[in-house]
Amino acid sequence: RTDPLTGLNNVRSFEFEFNKAKNKLEKSNENFSIMILDIDHFKQVNDQYGHLEGDLVLKKLAEILKMSQNSNDIISRNGGEEFSVLLNDCNHKEAYEKANALRKIVENSFFILQNGFKSIHITISIGITTYNDTTIKFDNIYDHADQALYLAKNSGRNKVCSYSQVIDSVFN
Ligand code: GH3
Ligand code: MG
Ligand code: MG
Repeated sequence: RTDPLTGLNNVRSFEFEFNKAKNKLEKSNENFSIMILDIDHFKQVNDQYGHLEGDLVLKKLAEILKMSQNSNDIISRNGGEEFSVLLNDCNHKEAYEKANALRKIVENSFFILQNGFKSIHITISIGITTYNDTTIKFDNIYDHADQALYLAKNSGRNKVCSYSQVIDSVFN
């Protein structure tokens, strides 16, 4: 259930929690948001410092995620350098604010490498969407947040994009 490197939920428990949220929301009117986040240019970190040092960056990012989590949030490592946060009882504005606060914390954090002899900065891009607001069908929320993440990557990185901006970019 747990990702061994970061101690976060692994994909399997992510799916379990995702389905649990889905079942709960079918019986209530609560807001539910999701963020998917991905480290920017992480391959460069590995290329420059090696895979083991890259792993330290993943661990430290997981610590930051855990620290900024509240009791309603479920944080998972969904693969490689991609993470998700399920935000129970969280509307779109709150999700955006949370995501942007997290983005800023990461941007300003020091990631210590090489036994303390080196510290680097990294940035993350985040895609968000909210049921039942920017996404109407619960089953689409992961895909929609992923499309928002893709937009964040393609419009400069180190930013938060909402699925509503994906829709806008299609129609404008
Ligand atoms: P982008 O900003 O577009 O996301 O660029 P990127 O370089 O972060 O993305 P890309 O998908 O090209 O590379 C992801 C890198 O993440 C490549 C892979 O080696 C690294 N990676 C994935 N899982 C792990 C891991 O468990 N440990 C380490 N150290 N690196 C990992
Ligand atoms: Mg990346
Ligand atoms: Mg990636």
